[in-house]
Amino acid sequence: MIDSARGDGPPEPPADTASIPDADWARAVKILAEADQVGLACHLRPDADALGSMLAVGLALRARAPRPPAIVASFGDEPFEVPEILRFLPGLDLLSPPDRYPARPQVMLTLDAGSIDRLGPLAASAAAADELIVLDHHASNTRFGTVSLVDPGAAASAVLACELIDRLGIALTHDIALGLYAGLVTDTGSFKFSSTTPAVHTLAARLLAYQINPADVSRPLYDTAPFAYLPMLASALNRTQLDPRACRGLGLVWTTVTRQDRGSLPLDATESVIDVIRRTEEAEVAAVLKEDDEGIWQVSIRSKSLVDVARAATALGGGGHARAAGFSASGGPDVTIAALRPLLDQG
Ligand code: MN
Repeated sequence: MIDSARGDGPPEPPADTASIPDADWARAVKILAEADQVGLACHLRPDADALGSMLAVGLALRARAPRPPAIVASFGDEPFEVPEILRFLPGLDLLSPPDRYPARPQVMLTLDAGSIDRLGPLAASAAAADELIVLDHHASNTRFGTVSLVDPGAAASAVLACELIDRLGIALTHDIALGLYAGLVTDTGSFKFSSTTPAVHTLAARLLAYQINPADVSRPLYDTAPFAYLPMLASALNRTQLDPRACRGLGLVWTTVTRQDRGSLPLDATESVIDVIRRTEEAEVAAVLKEDDEGIWQVSIRSKSLVDVARAATALGGGGHARAAGFSASGGPDVTIAALRPLLDQG
């Protein structure tokens, strides 16, 4: 029999959104409950947390009673294309390209964007908005809005988006829950990262109850690739380098994915390369440099438990989390690694 007074039972799971003051939630709710027009935006090259959270909030606001606001949702990619692996998300009809976005929205809400420049061409609308609500969980968030719903302790922006929908008093539906679940799966590494708290599983259980089949999310996101993915992965793996002295001797493993490797594959097909190379036992940090269609290198960095890669990424103009971050580099791979290496020694 467990004697709870002795304190050896399991601790209470902490609420994942405890660090945002109630007054900020209340302000955001008041603004969104009264708005006639709401502009939603998420970061460039959205992942499932950014787009899934944004569309979930968009679908929820569309159900706002008694009169829903006019809603426009976008992200800054030009040409404006929803990444193929995210086309299963409900609510894509809410999306408009950035050139059709209001120049001065009455109310704008950004999701999963750590800084205003992560909005790309939508940054101008954000700067001009009467009210700008910033919902995010990046530790590097610059608090660029009039209201900050920022909690680096949240496992995903989807956790905060769900809290916002609850506080608006709008009931979840299958479609809303699916977007939130996709965000949660993505940012917890399919419930494998240490951000996977008891509260994350409690939220996942709540969302799954809306008739969600987890395979409908994991298959498009992680378990499907065209055949051309395999030779691309082979080329990238063949080029992998291990630098055991980097990161103060903790080791760096890194590789590149060139445009030639990708052929006609989109850039997002390269996302999972890092999940293969970061298994390397001899390296605390893994980096993949992916050449985009403009010849810019999009760099993803991951660490296991000791090095703060967000600090290095931020110093190079990017951002992210302590264990997963990224930045863009216009120099070549060798120049970029040479710039990254001393920053990782400090982290
Ligand atoms: Mn996120």
